[in-house]
Amino acid sequence: MKAAKSQTMLPVAGTDMLLPVTELTGEKKGETITLSAGVHSREYAGVQALTELAQELDPRQVRGTIRLLHCCNYEGFLRRSADVVPQDGKNLNREFPGDPGGTPAQRLAAFLEQEFIERTDYLVDFHSGGFCESLTPHLYFHGTAAPEVRAVSRRMAELTTVPYLVESSAENGFYSWAGQRGVPAILLERGGCGLVEPGAIEGHKRDALRLLRGLGFLEDGEPVSSAAHQVITTAFYVDAPESGCWYPAKAAGDFIREGEMLGEIRNLFGKVLCRVTAKASGVILYQTASLGIEKGASLVAYGKL
Ligand SMILES: [Zn+2]
Repeated sequence: MKAAKSQTMLPVAGTDMLLPVTELTGEKKGETITLSAGVHSREYAGVQALTELAQELDPRQVRGTIRLLHCCNYEGFLRRSADVVPQDGKNLNREFPGDPGGTPAQRLAAFLEQEFIERTDYLVDFHSGGFCESLTPHLYFHGTAAPEVRAVSRRMAELTTVPYLVESSAENGFYSWAGQRGVPAILLERGGCGLVEPGAIEGHKRDALRLLRGLGFLEDGEPVSSAAHQVITTAFYVDAPESGCWYPAKAAGDFIREGEMLGEIRNLFGKVLCRVTAKASGVILYQTASLGIEKGASLVAYGKL
């Protein structure tokens, strides 16, 4: 087979949505890996990293097949929607396994499962902090998939350069559903706040290349040496106990001690409504960066070290 690169706008069955996809096929037969981004509309580092890789990767150096899914929620990306599929207001990452007869986001999830999860040996999903969220680079690997799937996910995680590897129990996201379907997968997080950050883009690209080399898809002679990581098996995801103004006491990536104050919510008249304290010593993975916060919204997440 001749080495080839194809680029298409793939129609999503049963919707008017399109998916931008680049596929690289090498002369040598091998496995398939899918790199995806843009599940959330305003998380740009992964979208730009894959867009650059699609132009730079040479299919003559590829073994097997590399599929780049540039932007899963492409309509949301164009419309700058608040991290949901604009046609139905749903968060794509909560809609797996999807439904081919359901709402647009559910049809998109079903299509992603059928066309990508079912046709790949590995999945790497690139994210950033949300539109009003700052974070420190980290990743999630499967905690609940079958042991052999979990072991390969963990090996994939070890190939990256993010400092924190978080074991996740989620099951209904793109990468986590892949794990439930027997496909080893990880979710990488860099950057946030809806910004286009060169450092985050470079970091995602660097890890994409390390995974492609380390898993044998890219034969360009560059060795992959292992990086240092800390594994987090217990993480705390705190929602805002009150609506008001959020005053964080820490920054993403800061180390915290058990009992230490992470921030407080005050009303617009300056009255303190609540204080959030750490239940364990560890590191701030991400936190809300906006002043305004609504009760029940994601506020801060930290991992126990
Ligand atoms: Zn995301």
